[in-house]
Amino acid sequence: MPQEIPEIPLVMAPQTAEARAIIGFRWNKSAGKRHKLGGSPDWIQNDKTPDCLSCFTAMSFYGQLDCIGDKIALGDCGMIYVFICFDCGETNTVVQCH
Ligand SMILES: [Zn+2]
Repeated sequence: MPQEIPEIPLVMAPQTAEARAIIGFRWNKSAGKRHKLGGSPDWIQNDKTPDCLSCFTAMSFYGQLDCIGDKIALGDCGMIYVFICFDCGETNTVVQCH
């Protein structure tokens, strides 16, 4: 069984005017605010939880990184999902967009 991590929302805290300027979307106000550790993946498409390449069991969801803004958007408001096998130390990522 994959290990489950309690959901911990992450909030961006840009430290410079340059960083503040690239955050956010003109037409999609929820995108860019879905960063988190743990919980369950907020899949944009179907569940694509990977199996560990070493032990062939389902990997644990570690977190997700949302797109940043209109200039760095991972396709159409996409997301990067991060997985880990706590037994083997293997990691994997999945990218999805609309
Ligand atoms: Zn493994």
